[in-house]
Amino acid sequence: MGFVIAAPDQPSLAVAGGDGRFPVRRIYCVGRNYADHAREMGADPVREPPFFFMKPADAVMPDGADIPYPPGTANLHHEVELVAAIGATGRDVAVEKALDLVWGYGVGNDLTRRDLQGQAKAKGHPWDVGKGFDHSAPVSPLRPVTEIGHPATGAIALSVNGTLRQQGDLGDMIWSVAEIIAHLSRLFVLQPGDLIFTGTPAGVGAVVAGDVIEASIAGVGRLRNRVV
Ligand code: MN
Repeated sequence: MGFVIAAPDQPSLAVAGGDGRFPVRRIYCVGRNYADHAREMGADPVREPPFFFMKPADAVMPDGADIPYPPGTANLHHEVELVAAIGATGRDVAVEKALDLVWGYGVGNDLTRRDLQGQAKAKGHPWDVGKGFDHSAPVSPLRPVTEIGHPATGAIALSVNGTLRQQGDLGDMIWSVAEIIAHLSRLFVLQPGDLIFTGTPAGVGAVVAGDVIEASIAGVGRLRNRVV
């Protein structure tokens, strides 16, 4: 029995230093997970439970890819984030066991149509059109936990055309990767292939066609994309 239309390609990411690829199933994202970014977005960075939104799996874009400037926006923003790649199934996972689910890590850019997100916030509408658009999830090649362990501190930064825009430290996350996984696993069964974008530090801002975005996380990797 075949499919009645051509089956879509399986979205996937490269693995640093290897030929194998990591298949992407779902992309979860955490909102407001660094106090300085919560403040710049006009929110109070209290330790309220983390909240989540999603991007489609086929929004992933590789390192080096040109990112088409998306339609419907005049304010496309960058957000550098640590991305955790899930390699095992988990539901109702305890914080102490949560990191056992992580296969590896990458550097992500949670591209955002900020104007559309702002309109949605103002109206109490879903964030999907502001966050979950085509090409909205560039991610660097992943590095396995067997090589780099679980980065809990270290510089996270993003520059545009060589000018530093975002600079923070993984240790400044309000919710740790383990805590995020524990929370998320009470809402969804986490499965191999899931990605979790873990939030961005302050300094988000607009990019336009022609800009080169370079993101990095110490010990994890680098991600470079041009907006076209
Ligand atoms: Mn984000």
